Order: sequence, then structure tokens, then C-alpha cells
Amino acid sequence: MSSQEINNGGRKFTRTIENFICAVCDTEVKGTGYTDHCPECLWSVHVDVFPGDRKAGCGGLMEPIGATLKNEKWRIYYRCQKCGHERFNDASQDDNFEKIIELSTRPIPIRPSRQKRR
Ligand SMILES: [Zn+2]
Ligand SMILES: [Zn+2]
Repeated sequence: MSSQEINNGGRKFTRTIENFICAVCDTEVKGTGYTDHCPECLWSVHVDVFPGDRKAGCGGLMEPIGATLKNEKWRIYYRCQKCGHERFNDASQDDNFEKIIELSTRPIPIRPSRQKRR
């Protein structure tokens, strides 16, 4: 992990940029500070409680098990292989679109009680 301080005309902010090698398909993923999944195979790692906070401390691999289109944006549905945690993640523009389409053809196993979220 490397943190970079960017001085943007007096406005300073810290952005965490992590490059990582995908543990599933060996793709080298260039971190942008926002990327949390592999654009090739779409697998993710369970590191966030909320996107970007890196507070989960689980470290399990999160399998993409479905995808859905919401408000014209693709969301990938994940399940952690280690702890079973499930969550949606926004797809990014660099993602393997064919993979997303393939995932979208699978039914997403959401329990009705979990859908109540605003
Ligand atoms: Zn991968
Ligand atoms: Zn987990």
C-alpha cells in the first residue's frame, strides 16, 4: 500500500493508491485509489466495510456471483468466500463487460429481508 500526498493548488488531500496482482487471474491491476476489484475476472477482496474504508480486516476473496443494472449503472454482486459476507459493488468503466453480462444472466440469490435498504 502506498499513500500519496497530492498538492493541488494549495488544497491537499491524501489518496491511497494500491496496485495489486489479482489472486485469481494474475492480472496486474493498477490502483486508482478507487479500484477494489479486478477488471478482468471481477473478483474482489474483502477489505472494506463501506467502499474505500479498508476496515473489514477479513481479507477473503470475494466472488462475483451476479450483476444487475441499476439507474443505468452496472452493479456486481459479491460473496466473500471466507466469511460469507455479501454486498454490491459498482462496476467500473474498465471492467470486462462480457463478464458482467455473463454474470447478469445468473439469478442473484438475495434474501428478501436483505433488500430493505435505502
Ligand atoms: Zn482477476
Ligand atoms: Zn469476508
